[in-house]
Amino acid sequence: MKKIKILGVANLPQKDREEYNTILSTMDSIYSTAKVHPEPNISWSLEPELTDIMATSRSYKRLLFAWEAWHNASGVPLRAQYPRFVELSNAASQADGFNDTGADWRSWYETPTFEQDIEALYRTIEPLYQNLHAFVRRKLYNQYGSKYINLKGPIPAHLLGNMWAQTWNNIYDMMIPFPDKPNLDVTDEMVKQGYNATHMFRVAEDFFTSLNLEEMPDEFWEGSMLVKPEGREVVCHASAWDFYNRRDFRIKQCTTVTMEQLFTVHHEMGHIQYYLQYKDQPVGFRRGANPGFHEAIGDVLSLSVSTPKHLHSIKLLESGTSDTETDTNYLLKMALEKIAFLPFGYLIDQWRWGVFKGNTPPERYNAEWWYLR
Ligand SMILES: [Zn+2]
Repeated sequence: MKKIKILGVANLPQKDREEYNTILSTMDSIYSTAKVHPEPNISWSLEPELTDIMATSRSYKRLLFAWEAWHNASGVPLRAQYPRFVELSNAASQADGFNDTGADWRSWYETPTFEQDIEALYRTIEPLYQNLHAFVRRKLYNQYGSKYINLKGPIPAHLLGNMWAQTWNNIYDMMIPFPDKPNLDVTDEMVKQGYNATHMFRVAEDFFTSLNLEEMPDEFWEGSMLVKPEGREVVCHASAWDFYNRRDFRIKQCTTVTMEQLFTVHHEMGHIQYYLQYKDQPVGFRRGANPGFHEAIGDVLSLSVSTPKHLHSIKLLESGTSDTETDTNYLLKMALEKIAFLPFGYLIDQWRWGVFKGNTPPERYNAEWWYLR
């Protein structure tokens, strides 16, 4: 997933640089250790418990509890750290000649009209997003009823299968247009076949090597963290790492056996494939063309992984034949993952640009977020 590369802080005075690093590690630790206590002696982490509840529970109240309690446990303490982070980050970007950190980040895309370009792109898919939104809202109305779903209003964020409501594929089971067709969510089949984390990474590696791309080096298998470790806290958000010595490349992922995670494995391995392709360049060239390009590599390739045809070829789906109804199911499933994400991804950047510019002061952080949402 996305990992922000923090650049330019080397330009800050040492005292500020230390404060900046302390804030970053404090925020990391707040996020990775946030716990929810449904009862005094029970403790839920974001992964696996809360993520599972968001994905699988269909109880309005249980979902609302998980959503609200986790936002209170992580978001409220994080928010106190953020204004000073913004000040120091802006100071570092200004030392590099940018107006603020948002301008610094946008510069990586090398177009002076980046904000307008993204807005224009978003407008082209907005009608499709609105169709999807209305369809999902109607299905949720059928499930939860008029007490909870307003057919003319926004959808409550805790009902979409994901803590951030950023992808909606986890509620596909409630959305299936033609439920009599083969189930395109192969999670149950993976469990039945005894999949584990290592096997999922081997399946992804087979996929990449079948395209004549690279095998994972030995260091990858020795050094990666493919399951959540016992006895210590980690940030579970999946990420891929280049150690810049041309040999050592690793993934950190708290992998569980689900179809969604299988696609994430392909996404993360896409980063490693890109690292491997430019590993022999001088250090200055060992970066993606821009961060969006890096994110796209694994996603573009794994679009082919998620097709019924490919899932059939790796024996996770019984039938690989397609007809209009199966295709419609598949397209809706992809829309829940990909189309639903686009306005979310866009609003995250809009929010941060406003914060770094100073248009959104700390007392407006939360209000502006929900305005954009
Ligand atoms: Zn990524």
